[in-house]
Amino acid sequence: MENFKKLLDEAKKCVRCGICNSVCPTYNVLRKESVGPRGRVALIRERATTGDGAGFGKEFAIDLKACTLCGSCLGSCPRDVDVPKLILGARTAVVESEGLSVGAGLVFKNFLAPGKLAGLALKTASRLKRLLLKSSVGENGLLRRFSLPIIGKGRLVPNLADIFFLDRPEVKKLARVEAKEGRPRIGFFAGCGINYLMPEVGVATIKAVTDLGADLIIPSKQVCCGMPALSAGDRKTAKELAIKNLNAFEDEDLDYITTSCATCSNALKSVFLELLGDDPEHQERVQRFTSKVRDVTELLANELSYKDKGDKKEGLVTWHDPCHLSRYQGVREEPRELILKSGYAFKGMKNPCKCCGLGGGLVFSDYELSIEVTKKKAQNILSTKASIVATACPGCIVQLRDALHRYTPKDELIPKVVHVLELL
Ligand code: SF4
Ligand code: SF4
Repeated sequence: MENFKKLLDEAKKCVRCGICNSVCPTYNVLRKESVGPRGRVALIRERATTGDGAGFGKEFAIDLKACTLCGSCLGSCPRDVDVPKLILGARTAVVESEGLSVGAGLVFKNFLAPGKLAGLALKTASRLKRLLLKSSVGENGLLRRFSLPIIGKGRLVPNLADIFFLDRPEVKKLARVEAKEGRPRIGFFAGCGINYLMPEVGVATIKAVTDLGADLIIPSKQVCCGMPALSAGDRKTAKELAIKNLNAFEDEDLDYITTSCATCSNALKSVFLELLGDDPEHQERVQRFTSKVRDVTELLANELSYKDKGDKKEGLVTWHDPCHLSRYQGVREEPRELILKSGYAFKGMKNPCKCCGLGGGLVFSDYELSIEVTKKKAQNILSTKASIVATACPGCIVQLRDALHRYTPKDELIPKVVHVLELL
């Protein structure tokens, strides 16, 4: 099978030096060879050698799931072994030979494509939340009222929006915007995090972009970027979602396409190309689409030249680099430039690009390991004495809020976690 041959060729580049283990967040918590990049490559090599997928069983998938896909190992490897790609390839092989779990299949096929089951189920959940959960004092999140199976004690869960971003009347109005001379036309991709959990970030994006003299168009037929499905090995669904998004944005005459979620901007910019770039039916379309994509921090700092307004604001801000922004897209300067121009004082933290622990589905497959990975990040944030942590990914925001709620000493104020656009 072609897929196994590709996995094997990549895995064979590894010389087992172990340099990658020192930067791997999961290895650094568990100190176990099978949850470090070197061990994962060895496991994939061993299983791919059979060449027929027989070796990719459910048990093997457990070790593969304990990877955040942060990409730290790739940057450290002297042989350029693409471990995250290998892990994604092996997860896909597991799904191809064993199928998806019933729960994952339901979520990817229905919940991540608005307009189907998602709307009804999530709206019901949004109403139920008051029954099961209560607001935490001073933080943006909810705590359980009584013992619940999925939500561990003390876990701060994100608040499901009362009205989803794409359902808001002011957002629906932006599905069609007349072209105006001299005003750049920017397509906005909301993504699930902003749509379901943080509509306020979407609202801040509309304001920031329109204040800079551009028009924001929010196509109503957009769906999930496909990263949750792809991370779980469901490449087929990821591809279907990418095509739906091409269809949704293609009707508009756009100068740029942007999003305020770093995971989504990486998906729209690179993953779509990887999924559809070799497909003769979609090749040209996807190249045209991806060439227009900018993370919102790039768009504001570069294309729309965000200027310092000269205001001075109360509070010390620190910055967390999302893996999908700094490592996968190489965007590091732009968000820092925006913070410096926002009027807040800035203090960088130690190891700002260390993974937050949520990615790759780890927060769902092993919450305890995931939040343990975030512990070091929380300590680095607390050492800065910053009152605000800014970042550019709703997933990182959820994880950092939970970790700071858990790890901030009782006599200290819990830093607020926001999207960098909320500072502008
Ligand atoms: S750094 Fe590269 S070559 Fe060395 S063990 Fe890790 S993956 Fe293998
Ligand atoms: S992608 Fe991150 S978590 Fe996964 S093996 Fe590499 S360093 Fe470890």
